[in-house]
Amino acid sequence: MSTFQAPKGTYDLLPPASAVYLAVRDAISAPLRTSGYGYVETPGFEDVELFARGVGESTDIVTKEMYTLTTKGGSELALRPEGTASVLRAALEANLHKAGNLPVKLWYSGSYYRYERPQKGRYRHFSQVGAEAIGTEDPALDAELIILADQAYRSLGLRDFRILLNSLGDKECRPVYREALQGFLRGLDLDEETRRRIDINPLRVLDDKRAEVRKQLVDAPLLRDYLCDACRAYHEEVRALLAAAGVGYEDDDRLVRGLDYYTRTTFEFVHDGLGAQSAVGGGGRYDGLSEMIGGPALPSVGWALGVDRTVLALEAEGITLALPAPVTVYAVALGEEARRLLFGVVTALRKAGIAADFSYGERGLKGHMKNANRSGARFTIVAGERDLAEGVAQLKDMESGEQSPVALDALVTEIGSRLG
Ligand code: AMP
Repeated sequence: MSTFQAPKGTYDLLPPASAVYLAVRDAISAPLRTSGYGYVETPGFEDVELFARGVGESTDIVTKEMYTLTTKGGSELALRPEGTASVLRAALEANLHKAGNLPVKLWYSGSYYRYERPQKGRYRHFSQVGAEAIGTEDPALDAELIILADQAYRSLGLRDFRILLNSLGDKECRPVYREALQGFLRGLDLDEETRRRIDINPLRVLDDKRAEVRKQLVDAPLLRDYLCDACRAYHEEVRALLAAAGVGYEDDDRLVRGLDYYTRTTFEFVHDGLGAQSAVGGGGRYDGLSEMIGGPALPSVGWALGVDRTVLALEAEGITLALPAPVTVYAVALGEEARRLLFGVVTALRKAGIAADFSYGERGLKGHMKNANRSGARFTIVAGERDLAEGVAQLKDMESGEQSPVALDALVTEIGSRLG
């Protein structure tokens, strides 16, 4: 124990559990990498205004949850609370939307920071894998992203998740709905802060989780009844494409999500084994965001899936990923000469693409073999002075327990062929 601990709301990823996180990131990005999405990486911090404008001045993320800082040079920065605004900023800055085909399809993976009240599944530092398709309005693109997220979760073996789907309308029909909703909400018995929200972001009130608020919202007007013909047709097409792909979803009229920039398609992946923090991922279309941050009109759609909550979802379903042992071969050398020779064998194994490790440090055979057992390696190579005199090492198959002498210069080939 040192004097220091990980800051509140954060935790460390350590082996062996950290391997699960790597595998989850890999599984989420795999379908994207084979669907035309290119990898993008942006800084961990940005101009605070990017998020204020991009995420929305009235959102909890911007008003309460951002980690902001002033640099020595006087710049106002924020640790990134989400990925979309940064990725769009980067694409615009590099003129990717002018350089090639539209949409510009990008995926990312990284750490995000929100000053939230920590609880299980809700941290101040968390990890997302995300995807954005920038510059094209096409219901097939919305459907593609939902299908790829579904595929990613299924590839991990997850089953107990649901996809909630809604349309938030566009700049034609949403203002009409907004006004109708405001009228309705003003007639309710609500606290001061919620009343303020009616003026700046009334749709967010629909997201309120408190029972006393929810019961008053039963008769709230629904966006569905206000969608213009274009939005309605667009949404129907997304639904039809999902159905044709065999991806099940639930229509959720109340789904608004926490960020201001969504238009039309909006969706959330929820997992039923996670309790209060049940959203494992979410996203939607954000046709107005580019203009909000000073770019041209670029209709776009994207999602972000939370890695931490996906790992919790695996635990909730009792899924253990079949991960390979960190090393395949573990070498135990007894004596100076054996150390030198086996260290060379380990290097050769690694060069041949076989994961190998070495029992370092001075210790007896028992201590070395304890290391070998703990490593989970399939094979152990043991060599002492007597073996060296014969030019061999003992190759032990840890699964069958069988052991046989193998010539030192034949070890790499022998292990390679046994592994097939
Ligand atoms: P959002 O940008 O809020 O839609 O978040 C997308 C996904 O990121 C969520 O569905 C969660 O899986 C994950 N996420 C968001 N905030 C947190 C947090 N504070 N702790 C852990 N995961 C989070």
